[in-house]
Amino acid sequence: MSRTTTVFNINEELIFEKSASGKMAYSLPPLDVEDDTIEALLEPSLVRGEIEGFPEVSELDLIRHYVRLSTWNYHIDLGMYPLGSCTMKYNPKLNEKVARLGDLSGVHPLQEETLSQGNLELMFQLQVFLQELTGMDAVSLQPAAGAQGELTGLLMIRAYHVHQGKPRKYVLIADSAHGTNPASATLAGYDVISIPSNPGGTIDTSLLAERMSEDVACLMLTNPNTLGIFEVEIEKVAEIVHGRGGFIYMDGANFNALMGYARPGDMGIDVLHLNLHKTFSTPHGGGGPGSGPVACRQILAPYLPVPRVVRTGAGYSLEESPGSSIGRVHGFYGNFGMFVRALCYILSCGRTGLREISETAVLNSNYIRARLKNHYALAYHSPSLHEVVFSDKKQASNQIRTLDIAKRLIEHGFHPPTIYFPLIVRGALMIEPTESEGKAELDSFIDAMIAIAREARESPELLINAPITTKRTRVDETRAARQPILRWSPPAEAPPDEST
Ligand SMILES: *Cc1c(COP(=O)(O)O)cnc(C)c1O
Repeated sequence: MSRTTTVFNINEELIFEKSASGKMAYSLPPLDVEDDTIEALLEPSLVRGEIEGFPEVSELDLIRHYVRLSTWNYHIDLGMYPLGSCTMKYNPKLNEKVARLGDLSGVHPLQEETLSQGNLELMFQLQVFLQELTGMDAVSLQPAAGAQGELTGLLMIRAYHVHQGKPRKYVLIADSAHGTNPASATLAGYDVISIPSNPGGTIDTSLLAERMSEDVACLMLTNPNTLGIFEVEIEKVAEIVHGRGGFIYMDGANFNALMGYARPGDMGIDVLHLNLHKTFSTPHGGGGPGSGPVACRQILAPYLPVPRVVRTGAGYSLEESPGSSIGRVHGFYGNFGMFVRALCYILSCGRTGLREISETAVLNSNYIRARLKNHYALAYHSPSLHEVVFSDKKQASNQIRTLDIAKRLIEHGFHPPTIYFPLIVRGALMIEPTESEGKAELDSFIDAMIAIAREARESPELLINAPITTKRTRVDETRAARQPILRWSPPAEAPPDEST
């Protein structure tokens, strides 16, 4: 049974249309000091006279506007997000509370070092934990996102090779890689050579050996890869790449498959990024702040961004001296609020808790895999870890494609999974339940997916037109992103039902 019943649509005018001159959301008591105009306090060039069309509304208009908008959103506190790869993992509310503590959130980044010892210690401790979890020698917390971590790591690799007298020209990237990998390599000035996957869904080591040369700066690899499959030949991969003087960059955005169990440093990885806003609990989505720390081996450590938090005798300080560093990649020290959440997460989960997170993430994904494998085609049969990739191969004979399945899932009350990625799987449905979900929620998601597989055979029209019960029906997604039409308009009158 679908868990959606009535769709509660409350429509309203745009906030601009509710506006009337002089409406206000507040009233203040009369001033008991002299009234100053803003122009008297600020330089005139800094004062904006008027914001054209700025809505003027009452308190109630304002509150209802935002509350109503929030109810139209599907969000992590409402239900499961089975998105693969970029999913937000477990996100305890405790971390939000700690990050908002005034002593942590109110510190100015230019405050004296002597007055910021607690903050510096927090950053230092987080670096040490991330080093320990990844098996690496040094960490920079500066990059603001996974993609920026990639760019940082690649610039460090470039700086190393330049220092050796030869910058090298190419970066090898597995064809299952996240789209940010080739983009970062290109930004770092490299040409990309793609390495195809083998039938088991892992990197083809004979093709890798063929394409690896002394012109290759590094291989970028995700492990487990975006198919959720562990690169079982990682040691051989490392031997091939290191044998020709190259490095291995690991995309560690989805570290919840390995955390507490396996360390990239022990597998021959030289540098990687983590996504604190995925694996270490900061909520993300809607372009909110992120954090993509970079961890590396000693050989690359001199090239890490500055300033670096270091221990100095009894305290902590910021080492600003550039040396051979690639320089700064972020204002100040990175997104500090994310460091607070990540450290709080690590400390509150503890050693066994972090291991349990990986166990649960892998178990949840394999539970979905086991219960859905007779209903949807598995893209690869190799064992998978934290995520599982199906395709629309079984449904295609009824002209049902991945997009139809995803859209119908909305009407069953779930956010769709990642679709059409990774690119190497035709019609991919990439599902990552994460460690957050319990069995009951997984079961209702699986039941909805099974119901959809049945509908695809028995009443495909339900899928082809889906969704029809939602606030917005199926839109041209490209056009909707470029030319958004925000005003609600009633749907065209339904044609009379001829069967009655
Ligand atoms: C999310 C993700 C990235 C990019 O991280 P951003 O913080 O969005 O820049 C890179 N690689 C993988 C595998 C990811 O899942």
